[in-house]
Amino acid sequence: MSSTNTVNGGISFWYADDGLPTAREPLTGDTTADVCVVGGGYTGLWTAYYLKKAAPFLRVTVLEQRFCGYGASGRNGGWLYNGIAGRDRYARLHGHDAAVRLQQAMNATVDEVIRVAAEEKIDADVHHGGVLEVAYTPAQLARLRAFHEAELAYGENDRTLHGARETAERIRVAGAVGSSWTPHGARLHPVKLVKGLAAAVEALGVTIHESTPVTEIKPKHAVTPYGTVRAPYVLRCTEGFTASLKGQRRTWLPMNSSMIATAPLPADVWETIGWAGRETLGDMAHAYMYAQRTADDRIALGGRGVPYHFGSRTDNDGRTQPATVDALREILVRFFPQLTGVRIDHAWSGVLGVPRDWCATVTLDRATGLGWAGGYVGSGVATANLAARTLRDLVQRDSGQAGATDLTALPWVNHRVRKWEPEPLRWLGVHGMYATFRAADRREDSSHSASSSRLARLAERVAGRH
Ligand SMILES: Cc1cc2nc3c(=O)[nH]c(=O)nc-3n(C[C@H](O)[C@H](O)[C@H](O)COP(=O)(O)OP(=O)(O)OC[C@H]3O[C@@H](n4cnc5c(N)ncnc54)[C@H](O)[C@@H]3O)c2cc1C
Repeated sequence: MSSTNTVNGGISFWYADDGLPTAREPLTGDTTADVCVVGGGYTGLWTAYYLKKAAPFLRVTVLEQRFCGYGASGRNGGWLYNGIAGRDRYARLHGHDAAVRLQQAMNATVDEVIRVAAEEKIDADVHHGGVLEVAYTPAQLARLRAFHEAELAYGENDRTLHGARETAERIRVAGAVGSSWTPHGARLHPVKLVKGLAAAVEALGVTIHESTPVTEIKPKHAVTPYGTVRAPYVLRCTEGFTASLKGQRRTWLPMNSSMIATAPLPADVWETIGWAGRETLGDMAHAYMYAQRTADDRIALGGRGVPYHFGSRTDNDGRTQPATVDALREILVRFFPQLTGVRIDHAWSGVLGVPRDWCATVTLDRATGLGWAGGYVGSGVATANLAARTLRDLVQRDSGQAGATDLTALPWVNHRVRKWEPEPLRWLGVHGMYATFRAADRREDSSHSASSSRLARLAERVAGRH
């Protein structure tokens, strides 16, 4: 049942809430810079921020196709948390200790974003309440326990496992049988962060050109219809849009994620839900959901809709299929039955970047001066900041301004992976995987078995996720 009052698209609820920005001036002709950053999301903006802070003399230019925060950085669920795509694979490739260092860097990154936001006076509705992940079937509970143990083994000693009663004391999710909570997470307003960051970067003296699509990146050149920026370093920070660049069609798959935001809920409804700690909330389903309680007391909740569009097409300003809106509403009501019939004010979608092996990476090719960061899958709000500080260190090392650092030694640096298959294999593979996940979730919902679906595990292996 889709509501006719629901705003669909309009980029995201966060823009409806905080206002769309006026675009900055586009590029007008050829120019030069010391570093050219392509893409004005968290990755590009944090990179410009840290480079300029470290070396104020650098001429840094950011080129953005629409406006800063047009992509996932202006549309996400606002989970600033310590998850990083690919950690387990990095443990297999580089050893457990290297992956522990990566995890510790991610834990510290949550604090770093909060620190800089405060220092730059960016009020992004940050609430440091941690992350609560719940289980509501026996199979999910078994996965939750295994997940919890694995996180402890990566050094997260401050994570706690809750039974049904303790879970309900935090958030009363219908039928929840357990949860795992980590302090390394915070809720935030994605657009307030990205707007504040763009303003901070500009105040430092970085040049930002908006409405300036880059059509091709080649060594020392970022080519646009309005002119070319020549720079010794060109850094690609285009995440889910990467496929639209010349030569990059099969580099990272643009995966959709969709969200809904309810109307603000009254105090008496919140009494029945709890959620006073404003933890970000997730589950252990194969096709998982994620949610936050917003500063103005709505629930913003997301999950996979149509996961992928044929030919790596990206989106049209966040418009979302009515069936996806209905599916997200169903999850909302599954979690909180008292919200049956609640008004959904907004629905939107965005794209994230998925590499063939589902591993986030940050790379600088010293031979060409080309760098890139991303492939964060669904966890880029914090990871983009770690990537940006790492790109800064890689550029500084390469240009002789500094040496190697702890960040340049992390196992995700300079990781290479093969491209995705051509169509229609790409489309078939991703749709097959998510159809399997949804079927597995349905089966687990109605079963008392504690073992995870074998088909879902197989689908993950085939898709390269594990
Ligand atoms: C619906 C949704 C919910 C999510 N929820 C969470 C969450 O709760 N927590 C979490 O950790 N992660 C979440 N993510 C992922 C997270 O938002 C992203 O990983 C992160 O924002 C990536 O930042 P980015 O700067 O690398 O990419 P983006 O924010 O996508 O920025 C890329 C920018 O590059 C620009 N661009 C692209 N191509 C070109 C070009 N050719 N020329 C010029 N400019 C170009 C785009 O317009 C865009 O502004 C979510 C993502 C989505 C879509």
